[in-house]
Amino acid sequence: MNNHVILDVQNLKKYFQVGKNLTLKAVDDVSFQLHEGETLGLVGESGCGKTTCGRTCLGLYSRTDGKVLYKGQDVHLMKGAEKFAFKKEAQMIFQDPYASLNPRMTVSDIVAEGIDIHKLAANKKERDEKIFHYLNLVGLNKEHANRFVHEFSGGQRQRIGIARALAVEPKFMVLDEPISALDVSIQAQIVNLLIKLQKEMGLTYLFVAHDLSMVKHISDRVAVMYLGSMVEITTSEELYENPLHPYTKALLSAIPIPDPDVELQREQTRIKLEGDVPSPINPAPGCRFKGRCKYAKAICSEQTPQLKDMGNGHCVACHLYNQ
Ligand code: SF4
Repeated sequence: MNNHVILDVQNLKKYFQVGKNLTLKAVDDVSFQLHEGETLGLVGESGCGKTTCGRTCLGLYSRTDGKVLYKGQDVHLMKGAEKFAFKKEAQMIFQDPYASLNPRMTVSDIVAEGIDIHKLAANKKERDEKIFHYLNLVGLNKEHANRFVHEFSGGQRQRIGIARALAVEPKFMVLDEPISALDVSIQAQIVNLLIKLQKEMGLTYLFVAHDLSMVKHISDRVAVMYLGSMVEITTSEELYENPLHPYTKALLSAIPIPDPDVELQREQTRIKLEGDVPSPINPAPGCRFKGRCKYAKAICSEQTPQLKDMGNGHCVACHLYNQ
């Protein structure tokens, strides 16, 4: 990782009109930066806006307000050659490797799709060499090239999806819950593969996940989202050792510990998240976590807490830290 900012998200808003006078505020004033070679974990329960945020960063959704700058250029204003180049450099890995790969195409044609679109191989020999190279890189081989995706396990399908994304030589990848549809035994293999590829190819990742245990080993920094807003962002180490926001504490407290004695002890102090995530449609003013927060006080219903740097870049949005 270096200090060069590759992605600069400034006060991003993405709203959807879902009916007369009803606005779903999926992403509401979110700001963060991503440095070259870094992994930022973006975490929150389903419906918190993390996937919408990732997709808006890639320009797959228009924005309602704010900016997404990739290497200084506004993603949503790119046109022509600049947009074509961005589509090559910025790739997405999808959550469901079953749904994201065309069942009628061979593995080789799936991996070569981007190579063909971006004219990255001069002839068939070079095209085949590239296909085999990327299959090897993700732990598959030549023999897999002429098969169809239904012949593969979930973990292998995710490897095919990763090979397809790598084949266009990207710089930045949004990983949208890339391991949550996989068996627990396979999840660590895919995370280790992603870490290895990042080191070898200098990739920058935005790793979207619904629980903190999934991003712990891969993220340099972690951002926690709740109902469209970012509530905490800091280094991975600091977040796990010194969480500040009550929601982050509850998420951490929900991670099971494999030692039954430690787990029993922790059960006494566990911070339980009560109730479901409220609707992001026309949210009430104030802190969006107030209905589930045991520390909520009058100001929490009146004023929306802003992200505040507590030192060393550890930022939290909570009135408990505003005194
Ligand atoms: Fe709880 Fe208030 Fe902090 Fe929101 S601002 S997390 S309601 S204490």
